[in-house]
Amino acid sequence: MATDTDRKPILLTVDDDPGVSRAVARDLRRQYGEAYRVVRTESGPQALETLRELKLRGDPVAVLLADHRMPDMSGLEFLEEAMDLFPHARRALLTAYADTDAAIEAINIVDLDHYLLKPWDPPEEKLYPVVDALIEMWRSSDEQPVSRTQVVGHRWSARSFEVRDFLARNSVPYRWLSTEEPEGQRLLAAAGVEVTNIPLVVTAEGDSLVDPSMSKLAEKVGLSTVPTTDFYDVVIVGGGPAGLGAAVYAASEGLRTVLVERQATGGQAGQSSRIENYLGFPDGVTGTQLTDRARRQAHKFGAEILTTRDVVGLDVRASSRAVRFADGGEVVAHAVLLATGISYRKLEVPGADALTGRGVFYGSAATEAPACFGEDVYVVGAANSAGQAAVYLSRHARLVTLLVRGDQVERSMSYYLVRQIDEIPNIEVRLTTEVIGVHGDDHLEELTLCNTRAGTQETVRAGYLFVFIGAEPRTEWLERVVERDPRGFVLTGPDLVLDGQRPRGWDRDRDPYYLEASAPGVFAAGDVRANSIKRVASAVGEGAMAIQLLHTYLEHR
Ligand SMILES: Cc1cc2nc3c(=O)[nH]c(=O)nc-3n(C[C@H](O)[C@H](O)[C@H](O)COP(=O)(O)OP(=O)(O)OC[C@H]3O[C@@H](n4cnc5c(N)ncnc54)[C@H](O)[C@@H]3O)c2cc1C
Repeated sequence: MATDTDRKPILLTVDDDPGVSRAVARDLRRQYGEAYRVVRTESGPQALETLRELKLRGDPVAVLLADHRMPDMSGLEFLEEAMDLFPHARRALLTAYADTDAAIEAINIVDLDHYLLKPWDPPEEKLYPVVDALIEMWRSSDEQPVSRTQVVGHRWSARSFEVRDFLARNSVPYRWLSTEEPEGQRLLAAAGVEVTNIPLVVTAEGDSLVDPSMSKLAEKVGLSTVPTTDFYDVVIVGGGPAGLGAAVYAASEGLRTVLVERQATGGQAGQSSRIENYLGFPDGVTGTQLTDRARRQAHKFGAEILTTRDVVGLDVRASSRAVRFADGGEVVAHAVLLATGISYRKLEVPGADALTGRGVFYGSAATEAPACFGEDVYVVGAANSAGQAAVYLSRHARLVTLLVRGDQVERSMSYYLVRQIDEIPNIEVRLTTEVIGVHGDDHLEELTLCNTRAGTQETVRAGYLFVFIGAEPRTEWLERVVERDPRGFVLTGPDLVLDGQRPRGWDRDRDPYYLEASAPGVFAAGDVRANSIKRVASAVGEGAMAIQLLHTYLEHR
């Protein structure tokens, strides 16, 4: 990580004569060394390479001081190329008396600010006043160091969206640059990456990653992906409110705890633009804020949190339980908590798959909302998640149309949201309406809507479609390990004891604990559990409760 000292603005010199080069650098350091970093190079190509590195690291360059006569590349040629990377840096040429014509010409070609005649003794009279003026001019450009991850991509690139969404949901601050912006192009050039190879991610340390996998990205931006030890007291699968809640309670009570999340912590709640009904937040809280706090709290107590690890198998062994990862490896513990929640159902209409991430989004209103400025956007769904998204998007979009399949929203949406929607002039609710076609070449352009009551169809122009049409548990990997209901939700506790009969294969002389699944030592909490209440508070509560039951399990194993 770059320190503050490293982030001083830079004065870069280039001169092929080592003696002169050292002398300029020495004089500059003496006068400006406290506030600026003086970087000395000895050829145009070397100076350009240094500038590319500085660009990727996000360091600001204030002044470029180039000798005119250099063998590989003249000072003029160097300044011309340097301008493409650092247009705000002020430029001066060091010339011999005989070269003043060239220097004057350079004033036009590279917008040269000054030329300095060699020798510049005494520097107090001949060098510092010029450099002072250059620094003064640069300061007015207000260029700041960039100490964040930077992403260069295209608005309609699904991979660019995935990367941005991943960073946002994992609370990694980043700066987004479109390939159409000059600064985006400068970063691509500095990394030597073609515009077709996006997204480009440049980390705060200046490493560039071209179209990275999520696990590579996670690792590079400082998120853990690998367990630090072979054995834990509890492995929690899923990093939504139930999993994070459980991690806080487990770790704070001294259990060796690891939480494994396939995508980003926060789960569904992390995607909520504003949760208004969670206890203790009278003004509401965004999903990102709640997730960030919960994650920090879990970390504080010593829980390990692994991201981008997809769990695809659970093995119940004699006295241990192991979860297996999709990309190989496993982590073993005394007990396992399943907190895998539910995932959005896909919109099964022609065209939707191809345009996902390119105008069609699932639960990502928060990441995309600013891009919807002045646009007409459509939201599909009638539950609170769709209502919240409509309210949030209405602050950015020209018009938000909420498409509802049924003939009313009151049945499925909280009263407070229905009222909010009623009062917002740029939200229109269309009942008995379904999306039956999604069209566009590069990105979403049109939707075909069907009014099922009137039996009519129409095609509308649309830049964005946000889909919130319910969700289902993805628990196929638990088949034959724990009992599930016909929809895939995990059965626990009393739901497993039918007419006094304990579940098949149950080998304990007690009933399963309240949140225990049909395999002893495997617990379930939150939305993935059959008959659970689908709320943030109940998920957090079940997470805490599961840990209490897990303690009892560990005591009586
Ligand atoms: C947009 C939106 C707004 C909402 N607003 C509210 C609200 O205002 N108030 C309210 O009370 N509720 C709200 N809800 C509902 C609430 O968010 C959920 O009930 C709650 O998040 C459930 O928590 P959970 O931990 O059980 O599951 P989830 O939040 O679904 O989290 C499960 C996590 O497990 C991970 N996972 C799944 N499978 C695997 C695997 N195999 N390996 C590794 N990781 C896995 C997922 O990636 C996910 O992060 C909202 C939901 C949505 C979608």
